[in-house]
Amino acid sequence: MPATSILSPEILAKYEPVIGLEVHVQLLTETKAFCGCSARFGSAPNTQVCPVCLGLPGALPVLNRRAVEFATLAAMALHCRINETSVFARKNYFYPDLPKGYQISQFDKPLGEHGWIDVPAPAGTKRIGITRLHMEEDAGKSMHEGFHDSRERTYIDLNRCGTPLVEIVSEPDIRSADEAYEYLTRIKEILLYTAVSDCNMEEGSLRCDANVSVRLKGAEKFGAKAEVKNVNSFRFVRAALEHEIERQIEVIEAGGRVVQESRLYNSAEGRTYSMRSKEQAHDYRYFPDPDLPPLVVSNAWQEEIRATMPELPEARRERMIDEYEITAQDAQVLTSSRAFADQFEQAAKAAKSPKRVANLVQGELVGRLKAAGLELAQSPISMQGIAQAADLAESGALSSKMLKQLFDRCFETGEDFGVVYEREKPQQISDSGALEKMIDEVIAANPKQVEQYRGGKKTVAAFFVGQAMKLSKGQANPALLNELVTKKLDG
Ligand code: ADP
Ligand code: MG
Ligand code: ZN
Repeated sequence: MPATSILSPEILAKYEPVIGLEVHVQLLTETKAFCGCSARFGSAPNTQVCPVCLGLPGALPVLNRRAVEFATLAAMALHCRINETSVFARKNYFYPDLPKGYQISQFDKPLGEHGWIDVPAPAGTKRIGITRLHMEEDAGKSMHEGFHDSRERTYIDLNRCGTPLVEIVSEPDIRSADEAYEYLTRIKEILLYTAVSDCNMEEGSLRCDANVSVRLKGAEKFGAKAEVKNVNSFRFVRAALEHEIERQIEVIEAGGRVVQESRLYNSAEGRTYSMRSKEQAHDYRYFPDPDLPPLVVSNAWQEEIRATMPELPEARRERMIDEYEITAQDAQVLTSSRAFADQFEQAAKAAKSPKRVANLVQGELVGRLKAAGLELAQSPISMQGIAQAADLAESGALSSKMLKQLFDRCFETGEDFGVVYEREKPQQISDSGALEKMIDEVIAANPKQVEQYRGGKKTVAAFFVGQAMKLSKGQANPALLNELVTKKLDG
């Protein structure tokens, strides 16, 4: 748990945090950015390497066309302006898992600039600027063993060397840890919808560095920032930022000065530690890579890429709210992944009441999934099963109590709704004598509606069907009931 602050709410309220995020995303290409090696995760160490990604003298890079297409699609989805010509540059530094001694990146001419996304905020939405999206290659991995003992070893795995990344740099527009969390959630959602990355944080496909400073409210100048490196979940980013904001305010309140530096977050302790000072900004000696010509993404190619853009989550939510008359909250849950939204739409088109399908997802499915610790994709009940349940509930053939019991059964046995329903569906009453008695009871209790019906308002029949169904505890055979109600009312 984060250490509790010693600062009063009044003091905290004097300050305003300023946050900018740098997000690295691995692109879902089969092969690496500049060679034909596989970019697959999890293979035996150093089995996916060649002279190019090992940086052997004389080996020449060849750019992966698919990586450019993914990067351009991502930039477009984030509303960036695409630079027709961008330039690969060498970023020079030494690290054992960087055999070339430089990383191929983009510097002053990135692929995309001037983008933005909208994130939900207390007052509607807030627009966060995206400074740039550029392409670069990843470095390898160092693995440490027996830290701080006499047998300390470091192993180098170069499989990741040269896998294609994009770096997405935000403007310093974010004003709270919650807003940072929302921004990351939206970015990830957009990248998943465009299918340019799997965004798997455990495997390092999405990594975030969070830059944060504080200033007195109303001040114009930004304060000195700290950069919290490589936090491996969005919740930890939020917690790290909350901690870091308070730490900086404490420093200033105590008469000190925040130093510009990189810090590491320790999630077990809920605090950040200084890693290295950035007082002297490092000099990477960027220069255009002489082995790579400028990258030209012509207008025609851009249009080809734009044509592959799927409907993005925000637009999809708005359309679904309109089309299925569901709430914003429904739409939020139903679009949590592209596959799930596809399934919902398929089911909703076939179902009698899409709204009821949405209600079942929200009211009966989400809670059960949460209790069972399952993701939507692992649900025993398919979307089709939910649509079937919704139709049965809509027609009155299934009481809400019975539906709940059947859903519980599905979660106990791991079977889909259709299977459980066929086996355990309520006994239907198909005895016309018994049904007629119930209808008589309902007719006797509702003389006004009978009068309306006989006066020509035939739609009132549905009211009687509903009442009789209720009386039968949802067990009346719906087709027979319909027939008998009309007969009785007309008789
Ligand atoms: P650096 O050269 O240290 O990498 P950049 O100017 O490239 O810094 O910015 C990196 C990130 O830090 C961007 O997301 C930017 O919005 C953010 N940033 C810049 N200045 C500040 C600041 N004073 N406080 C918080 N974030 C900042
Ligand atoms: Mg930077
Ligand atoms: Zn290679």
